[in-house]
Amino acid sequence: MLHSLPREDNYMHKGMRKQLVQILRDKGIKDENVLAAIERVPRHFFLDPAFERQSYEDRAFPITAGQTISQPYTVAFQTQLLDIKKFDKVLEIGTGSAYQACVLAELGITLYTIERQRALYDHVGQFMLIKKYPNIKRFYGDGFEGLPSFAPFDKIIITCGAPFVPPKLLTQLKPGGIMVVPVGDEGKQKMLRITKDKVGNVTEEEMGNFMFVPMLQGKNHTK
Ligand code: SAH
Repeated sequence: MLHSLPREDNYMHKGMRKQLVQILRDKGIKDENVLAAIERVPRHFFLDPAFERQSYEDRAFPITAGQTISQPYTVAFQTQLLDIKKFDKVLEIGTGSAYQACVLAELGITLYTIERQRALYDHVGQFMLIKKYPNIKRFYGDGFEGLPSFAPFDKIIITCGAPFVPPKLLTQLKPGGIMVVPVGDEGKQKMLRITKDKVGNVTEEEMGNFMFVPMLQGKNHTK
């Protein structure tokens, strides 16, 4: 498996990452911690070596099992909306390539991340970069269920298009917490930032249109 081979992160890759960060700044990303995290994570490790250049373009890319690695802008935008504080306990739904997971892990948090596709879950397990992040805890399961035994979470991020705000996840969000979730039909979703106040009241803000692969019910065991 290509993922398990050692890969190089040289001055050329670092230069391409600086350019990517500039593109994200130009598109309106302001959180310096988020930009610095993007600058540190070698995104080309997540793609086949044949696509090194494309890995630093600001676009999504197909990975294994018919899924995608999110667009850097989307990763930065969702992460910025989460307003991450050091030591936050964060739940991610849709590990996918684990790129978003590594960007979050760079911010000094503990991340719990769930993937419903066995093949992807196993694939990421072979990925050497993931071993650099002991603060990423990976789970194979259905994100609609969340992780009740590890709840509550300070922040929850959903990286697939949800048909509705998953009620169990809302329950697992701490008072004072933030959930960022794209909600809508397949092909087009509205990014929602949901804030739960100290007494448990919830407010929703719409943050623009995005396109994610759908959030699906249940697990997929195919290896
Ligand atoms: N965060 C990822 C985005 C991957 S695409 C990245 O940075 O690359 C979205 C992922 O969500 C896919 O891997 C898909 O299999 C997963 N997914 C869809 N529905 C899910 C569910 N109910 N529970 C957990 N993961 C889910």
